[in-house]
Amino acid sequence: MKSWTRREFSRLAGAALLTALNQPKARGQAKARVVVIGGGIGGATVARYLAASATAIEVTLVEPRQSYATCFFSNLYLAGLRPFESLSHGYEALAKQYGIIVVHESAAAIHPAAKTVALNNGSKLSYDRLVVAPGIAFRDRALEGYDEAAMEIMPHAWNAGQQTRLLRQQLESMEDGGLFVLVAPPNPFRCPPAPYERASLVASYFQRRKPKAKILILDAKDSFNAQDLFQDAWNRHYPGMIEWLPAQFTGGVTAIDAKTRSVITAGATFKAAVANVIPAQMAGRLAQQAGLANRSGWCPVDPVTFESALQPGVHLVGDAIIGGDMPKSAFCANSQAKACAFAIAADLTGSARFPAHLFNTCYTYLAPDDAFSNAISFKPVDGKLKSVISFVSKVEESSEVRRQAARAAEGWYDAFTHDVFG
Ligand SMILES: Cc1cc2nc3c(=O)[nH]c(=O)nc-3n(C[C@H](O)[C@H](O)[C@H](O)COP(=O)(O)OP(=O)(O)OC[C@H]3O[C@@H](n4cnc5c(N)ncnc54)[C@H](O)[C@@H]3O)c2cc1C
Repeated sequence: MKSWTRREFSRLAGAALLTALNQPKARGQAKARVVVIGGGIGGATVARYLAASATAIEVTLVEPRQSYATCFFSNLYLAGLRPFESLSHGYEALAKQYGIIVVHESAAAIHPAAKTVALNNGSKLSYDRLVVAPGIAFRDRALEGYDEAAMEIMPHAWNAGQQTRLLRQQLESMEDGGLFVLVAPPNPFRCPPAPYERASLVASYFQRRKPKAKILILDAKDSFNAQDLFQDAWNRHYPGMIEWLPAQFTGGVTAIDAKTRSVITAGATFKAAVANVIPAQMAGRLAQQAGLANRSGWCPVDPVTFESALQPGVHLVGDAIIGGDMPKSAFCANSQAKACAFAIAADLTGSARFPAHLFNTCYTYLAPDDAFSNAISFKPVDGKLKSVISFVSKVEESSEVRRQAARAAEGWYDAFTHDVFG
Protein backbone atom coordinates (compact mmCIF):
# COMPACT_ATOMS: atom_id res chain seq x y z
CA MET A 1 0.00 0.00 0.00
CA LYS A 2 1.48 3.41 -0.99
CA SER A 3 1.42 6.20 1.60
CA TRP A 4 0.31 9.71 0.65
CA THR A 5 1.25 12.97 2.23
CA ARG A 6 -1.64 15.20 3.34
CA ARG A 7 -0.96 17.60 0.43
CA GLU A 8 -0.93 14.84 -2.21
CA PHE A 9 -4.16 13.48 -0.85
CA SER A 10 -5.93 16.86 -0.78
CA ARG A 11 -4.93 17.48 -4.42
CA LEU A 12 -6.25 14.11 -5.59
CA ALA A 13 -9.46 14.39 -3.57
CA GLY A 14 -10.06 17.82 -5.14
CA ALA A 15 -9.49 16.44 -8.64
CA ALA A 16 -12.00 13.67 -7.95
CA LEU A 17 -14.63 16.19 -6.89
CA LEU A 18 -14.09 18.21 -10.07
CA THR A 19 -14.53 15.06 -12.15
CA ALA A 20 -17.70 14.46 -10.20
CA LEU A 21 -19.06 17.92 -10.89
CA ASN A 22 -18.24 17.96 -14.62
CA GLN A 23 -20.82 15.42 -15.52
CA PRO A 24 -22.18 14.40 -18.91
CA LYS A 25 -25.48 15.80 -20.18
CA ALA A 26 -28.27 13.30 -20.66
CA ARG A 27 -29.72 12.58 -24.11
CA GLY A 28 -33.15 14.00 -24.88
CA GLN A 29 -35.29 10.91 -24.31
CA ALA A 30 -38.37 10.62 -22.03
CA LYS A 31 -37.59 10.81 -18.34
CA ALA A 32 -36.48 7.66 -16.64
CA ARG A 33 -37.56 7.32 -12.99
CA VAL A 34 -35.15 6.63 -10.15
CA VAL A 35 -36.52 6.16 -6.65
CA VAL A 36 -34.05 6.56 -3.78
CA ILE A 37 -35.08 5.14 -0.40
CA GLY A 38 -33.41 6.80 2.59
CA GLY A 39 -32.51 10.49 2.77
CA GLY A 40 -29.39 10.02 4.90
CA ILE A 41 -25.85 10.64 3.65
CA GLY A 42 -25.81 7.91 0.98
CA GLY A 43 -29.36 8.39 -0.32
CA ALA A 44 -29.35 12.20 -0.38
CA THR A 45 -26.01 12.21 -2.26
CA VAL A 46 -27.24 9.74 -4.90
CA ALA A 47 -30.40 11.81 -5.38
CA ARG A 48 -28.50 15.08 -5.62
CA TYR A 49 -25.83 13.85 -8.05
CA LEU A 50 -28.34 12.05 -10.26
CA ALA A 51 -30.55 15.13 -10.44
CA ALA A 52 -27.58 17.42 -11.09
CA SER A 53 -25.96 15.27 -13.74
CA ALA A 54 -28.88 14.02 -15.81
CA THR A 55 -31.91 16.19 -16.61
CA ALA A 56 -33.51 13.19 -18.33
CA ILE A 57 -33.99 11.43 -14.99
CA GLU A 58 -36.83 12.10 -12.56
CA VAL A 59 -35.53 11.53 -9.04
CA THR A 60 -37.80 10.78 -6.07
CA LEU A 61 -36.31 10.65 -2.58
CA VAL A 62 -38.27 8.74 0.09
CA GLU A 63 -37.40 9.71 3.67
CA PRO A 64 -39.77 9.78 6.67
CA ARG A 65 -38.02 12.58 8.57
CA GLN A 66 -38.45 16.28 7.76
CA SER A 67 -34.81 16.94 8.62
CA TYR A 68 -31.71 14.81 9.04
CA ALA A 69 -29.37 15.05 12.04
CA THR A 70 -25.78 14.00 11.40
CA CYS A 71 -24.15 11.38 13.59
CA PHE A 72 -20.82 12.92 12.71
CA PHE A 73 -20.12 15.79 15.10
CA SER A 74 -22.86 14.46 17.46
CA ASN A 75 -20.08 13.56 19.94
CA LEU A 76 -19.20 17.29 20.03
CA TYR A 77 -22.84 17.99 20.91
CA LEU A 78 -22.70 15.36 23.69
CA ALA A 79 -19.66 17.18 25.10
CA GLY A 80 -21.52 20.52 25.08
CA LEU A 81 -19.28 21.88 22.30
CA ARG A 82 -21.95 22.34 19.61
CA PRO A 83 -25.73 23.03 19.63
CA PHE A 84 -27.96 20.21 18.43
CA GLU A 85 -29.49 22.51 15.77
CA SER A 86 -26.10 22.74 14.03
CA LEU A 87 -26.36 19.01 13.22
CA SER A 88 -29.74 19.36 11.44
CA HIS A 89 -30.20 19.56 7.67
CA GLY A 90 -33.45 19.97 5.71
CA TYR A 91 -34.38 18.75 2.23
CA GLU A 92 -35.53 22.11 0.84
CA ALA A 93 -32.44 22.72 -1.33
CA LEU A 94 -32.64 19.22 -2.84
CA ALA A 95 -36.26 19.88 -3.79
CA LYS A 96 -35.96 23.51 -4.93
CA GLN A 97 -32.50 23.69 -6.52
CA TYR A 98 -32.30 20.19 -7.95
CA GLY A 99 -35.97 19.43 -8.66
CA ILE A 100 -35.90 16.24 -6.59
CA ILE A 101 -39.37 15.02 -5.54
CA VAL A 102 -39.02 14.55 -1.77
CA VAL A 103 -41.65 12.24 -0.25
CA HIS A 104 -41.71 12.27 3.56
CA GLU A 105 -42.86 8.69 4.12
CA SER A 106 -41.33 5.33 5.02
CA ALA A 107 -40.95 2.68 2.34
CA ALA A 108 -42.82 -0.41 3.56
CA ALA A 109 -41.92 -2.94 0.83
CA ILE A 110 -40.08 -3.32 -2.46
CA HIS A 111 -41.57 -5.30 -5.39
CA PRO A 112 -38.66 -5.79 -7.83
CA ALA A 113 -40.69 -7.79 -10.40
CA ALA A 114 -43.29 -5.00 -10.71
CA LYS A 115 -40.59 -2.33 -10.14
CA THR A 116 -42.63 -0.61 -7.46
CA VAL A 117 -42.12 0.58 -3.91
CA ALA A 118 -45.03 0.48 -1.45
CA LEU A 119 -45.08 3.35 1.04
CA ASN A 120 -46.42 3.27 4.60
CA ASN A 121 -49.32 5.56 3.62
CA GLY A 122 -50.58 2.91 1.16
CA SER A 123 -49.40 4.65 -2.03
CA LYS A 124 -46.99 3.16 -4.60
CA LEU A 125 -44.05 4.54 -6.57
CA SER A 126 -42.88 3.03 -9.88
CA TYR A 127 -39.23 3.06 -10.85
CA ASP A 128 -36.81 2.16 -13.63
CA ARG A 129 -33.96 1.99 -11.10
CA LEU A 130 -34.14 1.81 -7.33
CA VAL A 131 -31.48 2.88 -4.83
CA VAL A 132 -31.79 1.66 -1.24
CA ALA A 133 -29.76 3.47 1.45
CA PRO A 134 -31.44 2.63 4.79
CA GLY A 135 -28.36 2.82 7.04
CA ILE A 136 -28.14 0.41 9.96
CA ALA A 137 -30.47 -1.50 12.28
CA PHE A 138 -29.62 -3.21 15.57
CA ARG A 139 -29.47 -6.98 15.59
CA ASP A 140 -32.43 -8.58 17.33
CA ARG A 141 -31.65 -9.94 20.79
CA ALA A 142 -28.01 -8.82 20.47
CA LEU A 143 -27.98 -8.08 24.21
CA GLU A 144 -30.46 -9.70 26.56
CA GLY A 145 -32.73 -7.07 28.14
CA TYR A 146 -31.84 -4.33 25.65
CA ASP A 147 -35.24 -3.66 24.07
CA GLU A 148 -36.94 -0.40 23.01
CA ALA A 149 -37.95 0.43 26.58
CA ALA A 150 -34.35 -0.11 27.79
CA MET A 151 -33.09 2.23 25.03
CA GLU A 152 -35.06 5.05 26.66
CA ILE A 153 -33.14 4.49 29.91
CA MET A 154 -29.74 3.50 28.52
CA PRO A 155 -29.62 5.22 25.09
CA HIS A 156 -27.54 4.04 22.13
CA ALA A 157 -27.42 7.46 20.43
CA TRP A 158 -26.16 5.66 17.32
CA ASN A 159 -28.77 7.27 15.06
CA ALA A 160 -28.67 11.01 15.71
CA GLY A 161 -31.87 12.60 17.03
CA GLN A 162 -33.97 12.03 20.13
CA GLN A 163 -31.54 9.37 21.42
CA THR A 164 -28.60 11.79 21.20
CA ARG A 165 -30.53 14.49 23.07
CA LEU A 166 -31.52 11.96 25.75
CA LEU A 167 -27.90 10.94 26.33
CA ARG A 168 -26.85 14.59 26.58
CA GLN A 169 -29.60 15.29 29.17
CA GLN A 170 -28.44 12.30 31.22
CA LEU A 171 -24.80 13.42 31.10
CA GLU A 172 -25.81 16.93 32.16
CA SER A 173 -27.88 15.75 35.11
CA MET A 174 -25.34 13.13 36.26
CA GLU A 175 -23.77 13.85 39.68
CA ASP A 176 -20.04 14.57 39.81
CA GLY A 177 -18.29 11.32 40.74
CA GLY A 178 -20.78 9.18 38.74
CA LEU A 179 -19.76 6.30 36.45
CA PHE A 180 -20.46 6.58 32.70
CA VAL A 181 -20.45 3.10 31.10
CA LEU A 182 -20.08 2.87 27.32
CA VAL A 183 -20.78 -0.54 25.72
CA ALA A 184 -18.83 -0.73 22.43
CA PRO A 185 -20.16 -3.04 19.67
CA PRO A 186 -18.55 -5.96 17.79
CA ASN A 187 -17.26 -5.48 14.22
CA PRO A 188 -18.48 -4.47 11.72
CA PHE A 189 -20.34 -1.38 12.87
CA ARG A 190 -21.08 2.22 11.90
CA CYS A 191 -17.97 4.42 12.19
CA PRO A 192 -15.17 2.38 13.82
CA PRO A 193 -13.50 5.27 15.74
CA ALA A 194 -16.79 6.85 16.95
CA PRO A 195 -17.31 5.00 20.30
CA TYR A 196 -13.79 5.96 21.37
CA GLU A 197 -14.17 9.54 20.09
CA ARG A 198 -17.34 9.66 22.21
CA ALA A 199 -15.48 8.50 25.32
CA SER A 200 -12.77 11.13 24.64
CA LEU A 201 -15.18 14.03 24.21
CA VAL A 202 -17.39 13.02 27.15
CA ALA A 203 -14.16 12.95 29.19
CA SER A 204 -13.41 16.51 28.05
CA TYR A 205 -16.90 17.51 29.28
CA PHE A 206 -16.40 15.76 32.61
CA GLN A 207 -13.02 17.45 33.03
CA ARG A 208 -14.72 20.84 32.70
CA ARG A 209 -17.91 20.09 34.69
CA LYS A 210 -17.61 16.85 36.70
CA PRO A 211 -13.92 16.22 37.36
CA LYS A 212 -14.53 13.28 39.74
CA ALA A 213 -16.56 11.30 37.16
CA LYS A 214 -15.17 8.12 35.57
CA ILE A 215 -15.68 6.44 32.19
CA LEU A 216 -15.69 2.68 31.71
CA ILE A 217 -15.68 1.22 28.18
CA LEU A 218 -16.89 -2.39 28.06
CA ASP A 219 -15.86 -3.61 24.63
CA ALA A 220 -17.12 -6.55 22.58
CA LYS A 221 -13.66 -6.58 20.93
CA ASP A 222 -10.08 -7.09 22.05
CA SER A 223 -8.68 -4.16 20.09
CA PHE A 224 -10.11 -1.15 18.31
CA ASN A 225 -9.55 1.35 15.53
CA ALA A 226 -6.64 3.78 16.06
CA GLN A 227 -6.14 2.33 19.55
CA ASP A 228 -2.61 3.75 19.90
CA LEU A 229 -3.82 7.28 19.10
CA PHE A 230 -6.73 7.07 21.54
CA GLN A 231 -4.79 5.53 24.42
CA ASP A 232 -1.99 8.05 23.99
CA ALA A 233 -4.56 10.88 24.13
CA TRP A 234 -6.36 9.43 27.16
CA ASN A 235 -3.08 9.35 29.09
CA ARG A 236 -2.20 12.91 28.06
CA HIS A 237 -5.59 14.60 28.43
CA TYR A 238 -7.59 12.56 30.95
CA PRO A 239 -5.18 10.57 33.17
CA GLY A 240 -7.07 8.06 35.34
CA MET A 241 -10.50 8.98 33.95
CA ILE A 242 -11.08 6.41 31.16
CA GLU A 243 -10.78 2.65 31.63
CA TRP A 244 -11.13 0.31 28.63
CA LEU A 245 -11.90 -3.37 29.25
CA PRO A 246 -11.57 -5.71 26.23
CA ALA A 247 -13.82 -8.74 25.76
CA GLN A 248 -10.99 -11.12 26.63
CA PHE A 249 -10.91 -9.54 30.09
CA THR A 250 -14.66 -9.37 30.85
CA GLY A 251 -15.96 -12.26 28.74
CA GLY A 252 -18.05 -9.67 26.88
CA VAL A 253 -21.31 -7.93 27.75
CA THR A 254 -24.11 -10.51 27.90
CA ALA A 255 -27.11 -8.60 29.27
CA ILE A 256 -28.54 -5.25 30.34
CA ASP A 257 -30.70 -4.57 33.38
CA ALA A 258 -32.41 -1.27 32.62
CA LYS A 259 -34.23 -1.17 36.02
CA THR A 260 -30.93 -0.89 37.89
CA ARG A 261 -29.05 0.72 34.96
CA SER A 262 -26.58 -2.16 35.06
CA VAL A 263 -24.42 -3.78 32.40
CA ILE A 264 -23.78 -7.48 32.95
CA THR A 265 -20.66 -9.29 31.69
CA ALA A 266 -19.68 -12.94 32.08
CA GLY A 267 -17.88 -12.21 35.35
CA ALA A 268 -19.28 -9.00 36.85
CA THR A 269 -22.13 -6.48 36.96
CA PHE A 270 -21.35 -2.78 36.47
CA LYS A 271 -23.90 -0.29 37.81
CA ALA A 272 -23.83 2.96 35.85
CA ALA A 273 -24.97 6.49 36.64
CA VAL A 274 -25.32 6.92 32.85
CA ALA A 275 -25.00 4.09 30.33
CA ASN A 276 -24.55 4.33 26.56
CA VAL A 277 -25.23 0.91 25.05
CA ILE A 278 -24.23 0.52 21.38
CA PRO A 279 -25.44 -2.91 20.22
CA ALA A 280 -24.33 -5.17 17.34
CA GLN A 281 -25.52 -3.92 13.94
CA MET A 282 -26.74 -5.04 10.52
CA ALA A 283 -28.16 -3.42 7.35
CA GLY A 284 -31.38 -1.40 7.85
CA ARG A 285 -34.65 -3.34 8.25
CA LEU A 286 -35.97 -2.65 4.75
CA ALA A 287 -32.87 -4.22 3.20
CA GLN A 288 -33.42 -7.32 5.34
CA GLN A 289 -37.12 -7.57 4.48
CA ALA A 290 -36.46 -7.07 0.74
CA GLY A 291 -33.92 -9.93 0.62
CA LEU A 292 -31.05 -7.57 -0.19
CA ALA A 293 -28.89 -8.76 2.73
CA ASN A 294 -27.10 -12.10 2.86
CA ARG A 295 -26.52 -14.26 5.94
CA SER A 296 -23.96 -11.80 7.27
CA GLY A 297 -26.80 -9.30 7.76
CA TRP A 298 -25.18 -6.88 5.24
CA CYS A 299 -25.82 -6.33 1.52
CA PRO A 300 -23.42 -7.62 -1.18
CA VAL A 301 -23.00 -5.23 -4.15
CA ASP A 302 -21.06 -4.82 -7.36
CA PRO A 303 -18.12 -2.57 -6.31
CA VAL A 304 -18.29 -0.46 -9.50
CA THR A 305 -22.03 0.20 -9.94
CA PHE A 306 -23.25 -0.63 -6.41
CA GLU A 307 -25.97 -2.78 -7.93
CA SER A 308 -27.18 -5.50 -5.57
CA ALA A 309 -25.56 -8.91 -6.07
CA LEU A 310 -28.90 -10.43 -5.04
CA GLN A 311 -31.46 -8.27 -6.88
CA PRO A 312 -30.76 -6.81 -10.36
CA GLY A 313 -31.99 -3.24 -10.92
CA VAL A 314 -31.67 -2.38 -7.23
CA HIS A 315 -28.60 -0.45 -6.03
CA LEU A 316 -27.40 0.01 -2.45
CA VAL A 317 -24.97 2.49 -0.88
CA GLY A 318 -23.81 3.46 2.59
CA ASP A 319 -23.57 1.59 5.85
CA ALA A 320 -25.92 -1.19 4.70
CA ILE A 321 -23.47 -2.66 2.16
CA ILE A 322 -20.56 -5.07 2.44
CA GLY A 323 -17.92 -2.50 1.50
CA GLY A 324 -14.78 -4.64 1.59
CA ASP A 325 -12.03 -2.41 3.01
CA MET A 326 -14.34 0.63 3.03
CA PRO A 327 -15.46 1.41 6.58
CA LYS A 328 -19.04 2.38 7.40
CA SER A 329 -18.59 6.14 7.35
CA ALA A 330 -20.46 9.15 5.99
CA PHE A 331 -17.54 9.98 3.70
CA CYS A 332 -17.61 6.45 2.24
CA ALA A 333 -21.41 6.57 1.83
CA ASN A 334 -21.05 9.87 -0.07
CA SER A 335 -18.23 8.54 -2.25
CA GLN A 336 -20.12 5.31 -3.07
CA ALA A 337 -23.24 7.37 -3.81
CA LYS A 338 -21.46 9.45 -6.47
CA ALA A 339 -20.09 6.32 -8.18
CA CYS A 340 -23.55 4.77 -8.04
CA ALA A 341 -25.27 7.90 -9.42
CA PHE A 342 -22.89 8.09 -12.38
CA ALA A 343 -23.30 4.37 -13.15
CA ILE A 344 -27.11 4.71 -13.12
CA ALA A 345 -27.00 7.91 -15.23
CA ALA A 346 -24.76 6.16 -17.78
CA ASP A 347 -27.11 3.15 -17.97
CA LEU A 348 -30.30 5.16 -18.24
CA THR A 349 -29.18 7.99 -20.50
CA GLY A 350 -26.24 6.53 -22.44
CA SER A 351 -23.93 9.23 -21.06
CA ALA A 352 -20.20 8.59 -20.73
CA ARG A 353 -18.93 6.29 -18.00
CA PHE A 354 -16.29 7.50 -15.59
CA PRO A 355 -14.02 5.36 -13.48
CA ALA A 356 -15.20 5.48 -9.87
CA HIS A 357 -13.08 7.48 -7.40
CA LEU A 358 -13.72 6.09 -3.96
CA PHE A 359 -12.32 7.74 -0.84
CA ASN A 360 -12.62 8.00 2.89
CA THR A 361 -11.37 11.03 4.76
CA CYS A 362 -12.03 11.05 8.46
CA TYR A 363 -11.37 13.53 11.27
CA THR A 364 -11.62 12.20 14.82
CA TYR A 365 -11.57 14.32 17.98
CA LEU A 366 -9.48 13.30 20.99
CA ALA A 367 -10.11 16.65 22.74
CA PRO A 368 -11.64 19.94 21.52
CA ASP A 369 -8.23 21.08 20.17
CA ASP A 370 -6.74 17.70 19.33
CA ALA A 371 -7.99 15.74 16.32
CA PHE A 372 -6.37 13.15 14.09
CA SER A 373 -7.17 12.41 10.47
CA ASN A 374 -6.88 9.68 7.93
CA ALA A 375 -7.43 9.53 4.20
CA ILE A 376 -7.72 6.32 2.22
CA SER A 377 -8.54 5.62 -1.40
CA PHE A 378 -10.16 2.43 -2.66
CA LYS A 379 -10.55 0.60 -5.92
CA PRO A 380 -12.41 -2.53 -7.03
CA VAL A 381 -10.10 -5.58 -7.13
CA ASP A 382 -11.51 -9.04 -7.88
CA GLY A 383 -15.07 -7.94 -7.06
CA LYS A 384 -14.10 -6.36 -3.73
CA LEU A 385 -13.26 -2.81 -2.62
CA LYS A 386 -9.60 -2.74 -1.60
CA SER A 387 -7.71 0.14 0.05
CA VAL A 388 -4.82 1.23 -2.15
CA ILE A 389 -3.34 4.45 -0.80
CA SER A 390 -3.54 5.91 2.66
CA PHE A 391 -2.54 8.68 4.98
CA VAL A 392 -2.99 8.03 8.71
CA SER A 393 -2.09 10.33 11.62
CA LYS A 394 0.71 9.22 13.93
CA VAL A 395 0.99 9.26 17.73
CA GLU A 396 4.06 11.51 17.56
CA GLU A 397 2.36 14.35 15.60
CA SER A 398 2.83 17.80 17.13
CA SER A 399 0.05 19.50 19.05
CA GLU A 400 -0.01 22.19 16.33
CA VAL A 401 -0.75 19.57 13.62
CA ARG A 402 -3.55 18.17 15.80
CA ARG A 403 -4.97 21.65 16.48
CA GLN A 404 -5.01 22.33 12.74
CA ALA A 405 -6.81 19.01 12.13
CA ALA A 406 -9.50 20.02 14.67
CA ARG A 407 -10.05 23.30 12.80
CA ALA A 408 -9.93 21.55 9.37
CA ALA A 409 -12.65 19.19 10.60
CA GLU A 410 -15.02 22.13 11.13
CA GLY A 411 -14.46 23.27 7.53
CA TRP A 412 -14.93 19.70 6.34
CA TYR A 413 -18.31 19.47 8.13
CA ASP A 414 -19.68 22.57 6.38
CA ALA A 415 -18.38 21.64 2.91
CA PHE A 416 -19.45 18.01 3.25
CA THR A 417 -23.02 18.65 4.41
CA HIS A 418 -23.36 21.24 1.62
CA ASP A 419 -22.22 18.57 -0.86
CA VAL A 420 -24.89 16.16 0.44
CA PHE A 421 -27.90 18.39 1.11
CA GLY A 422 -27.15 21.32 -1.22
C1 LIG B 1 -21.29 8.97 16.82
C2 LIG B 1 -20.99 8.85 15.36
C3 LIG B 1 -20.01 9.65 14.79
C4 LIG B 1 -19.72 9.53 13.42
N1 LIG B 1 -18.73 10.32 12.90
C5 LIG B 1 -18.41 10.21 11.59
C6 LIG B 1 -17.38 11.03 11.02
O1 LIG B 1 -16.73 11.84 11.72
N2 LIG B 1 -17.13 10.90 9.70
C7 LIG B 1 -17.83 10.04 8.91
O2 LIG B 1 -17.54 9.97 7.70
N3 LIG B 1 -18.80 9.24 9.42
C8 LIG B 1 -19.12 9.32 10.72
N4 LIG B 1 -20.13 8.54 11.25
C9 LIG B 1 -20.81 7.54 10.38
C10 LIG B 1 -21.94 8.12 9.54
O3 LIG B 1 -22.88 8.80 10.33
C11 LIG B 1 -22.64 6.99 8.77
O4 LIG B 1 -21.66 6.17 8.18
C12 LIG B 1 -23.55 7.55 7.68
O5 LIG B 1 -24.61 8.26 8.26
C13 LIG B 1 -24.08 6.43 6.79
O6 LIG B 1 -24.95 6.94 5.83
P1 LIG B 1 -26.19 6.06 5.30
O7 LIG B 1 -26.83 6.88 4.23
O8 LIG B 1 -25.77 4.68 5.01
O9 LIG B 1 -27.16 5.95 6.57
P2 LIG B 1 -27.93 7.12 7.32
O10 LIG B 1 -27.20 8.38 7.21
O11 LIG B 1 -28.27 6.59 8.67
O12 LIG B 1 -29.27 7.29 6.50
C14 LIG B 1 -30.25 6.30 6.42
C15 LIG B 1 -31.58 6.98 6.14
O13 LIG B 1 -32.52 6.02 5.69
C16 LIG B 1 -33.78 6.33 6.23
N5 LIG B 1 -34.58 5.11 6.18
C17 LIG B 1 -34.37 3.94 6.84
N6 LIG B 1 -35.35 3.06 6.53
C18 LIG B 1 -36.18 3.68 5.65
C19 LIG B 1 -37.38 3.29 4.99
N7 LIG B 1 -37.93 2.07 5.16
N8 LIG B 1 -37.99 4.19 4.17
C20 LIG B 1 -37.45 5.42 3.97
N9 LIG B 1 -36.30 5.84 4.58
C21 LIG B 1 -35.69 4.98 5.41
C22 LIG B 1 -33.47 6.86 7.63
O14 LIG B 1 -34.52 7.66 8.15
C23 LIG B 1 -32.17 7.64 7.39
O15 LIG B 1 -32.42 9.01 7.13
C24 LIG B 1 -20.44 8.63 12.61
C25 LIG B 1 -21.43 7.82 13.19
C26 LIG B 1 -21.70 7.92 14.54
C27 LIG B 1 -22.77 7.06 15.15
